[in-house]
Amino acid sequence: MIVSKNPYNGKVLAEHKEFSSEDIIKALSKADTAFKDWRKTSFEERSRLLLKVAKVLKENKQEYAETMTKEMGKPISQSLAEVEKCAWVCEYYAENAEKQLSEEQITTDAKESFIRYDPLGVILAVMPWNYPFWQVFRFAAPALMAGNVCVLKHASNVMMCAANLEEIFKKAGFPEGCFKNLVIGSDKVEEVIKDARVKAVTLTGSGPAGSAVAATAGKEIKKTVLELGGSNALVVFKDANLEKTVKVCVQARFQNTGQSCIAGKRLLLQESVADEFLKLFKNEVENLKSGDPMDEDTYVGVQAREDLAKDLDKQVQESVKMGAEILMGGKRKDAYYEPTILTGVTPEMPVFKEETFGPAIGVTTFKDENEAIDLVNASQYGLGVSLFTKDLAKAKELAGQIEDGAVFVNELVKSDPRLPFGGTKNSGYGRELSFVGIKEFVNIKTVYIN
Ligand code: NAP
Repeated sequence: MIVSKNPYNGKVLAEHKEFSSEDIIKALSKADTAFKDWRKTSFEERSRLLLKVAKVLKENKQEYAETMTKEMGKPISQSLAEVEKCAWVCEYYAENAEKQLSEEQITTDAKESFIRYDPLGVILAVMPWNYPFWQVFRFAAPALMAGNVCVLKHASNVMMCAANLEEIFKKAGFPEGCFKNLVIGSDKVEEVIKDARVKAVTLTGSGPAGSAVAATAGKEIKKTVLELGGSNALVVFKDANLEKTVKVCVQARFQNTGQSCIAGKRLLLQESVADEFLKLFKNEVENLKSGDPMDEDTYVGVQAREDLAKDLDKQVQESVKMGAEILMGGKRKDAYYEPTILTGVTPEMPVFKEETFGPAIGVTTFKDENEAIDLVNASQYGLGVSLFTKDLAKAKELAGQIEDGAVFVNELVKSDPRLPFGGTKNSGYGRELSFVGIKEFVNIKTVYIN
């Protein structure tokens, strides 16, 4: 049995019977059969159904948001926003996929030559719990519009969300098999990848999970996209608008109770403004309301599982042993971790060199641009970076020196259906969203006519 448990009060919400190997085979056969028809549907038909999905999401957003909040502790206002964002990505691809995947004529010495983008078939998505709806939709909307079908292995602690997701596609009128939820633990993923009907895999999650999935897929010569962890830097230069920057940085670190791959986890402050910035920052963090995730004014909830709060505590305490100082916070109660600020952080400390997946931030100071860029790039991760400065010419120049997949200036790193999203180094490879993401799971086919 896979158990759904409310991390706020420890109550068991549901028990899910795990699929047997026969159940998995049945689900994959249904998906494969569905693909044979789905690949022949027009973009118009696919758009029509995806717009219906957006409608179902909007009409039932309270119900879906509550499931998320109960199952993984996300504050309810943020769960509602997540459901709306899912509707947006459906609308975006419903409107743009045909244009993005239209044939491209190329002049060669042939009578005619062009590129077409054909679907691959059944794509497996291995997904995490932190944005249990959004992570799935940002993969599924483009994959379905491209003519693929999806099977989902969701994180074990959000199987109620996973059931909701399958239901949404059904309610919208998608043919049976186009979106299948597999109720399985991670030990069954290898079996699914090895099945000949599965053509490719996308995984959003931790490094070890990504590495295990990519190793199996590699042996089977199946394509993977990996969206893994991150340790984004928030770089505040002395010419930044400090008051605005403080607000953006607080949101970047503490939304979703700090459990976001693209959260700003390392705060890098130019020495001459560090004290002033920290005073404002601490004041803002002190004003964040912690509490019951079901209350509309709660901003910081509990972590999705108690072990995650324990892991964070270990990283904080270890960093303190190595010389960091706790400016505020640093205590845990069950799955709740106090919003925490650590100063005097150096690149050897866990809160700098590892990913911290909760409401704690490490502060490091720098003298000049060169030192700032060295600190940014000193991470094993490469998802994104935020630069705060009024000098936009400097910011554009520095963007070229940063190794990450995204640079946001005077803004937190965020995903947007219109822009590519993905990382470098241990944050993974491949891109989701925009016209780039939709081309990850297609057969880019050359047609040459003489
Ligand atoms: P996780 O433990 O890696 O789990 C992610 C998914 O992988 C779950 O469905 C999990 O299943 C499965 N899994 C775990 N180990 C596996 C293995 N050896 N083989 C096959 N599947 C395996 O990560 P998480 O704790 O759910 O999520 C947090 C991590 O995801 C963080 O590192 C975060 O930064 C990253 N993340 C990245 C992005 C991005 O876009 N780059 C977005 C969100 C989150 P079970 O639940 O059954 O173990």
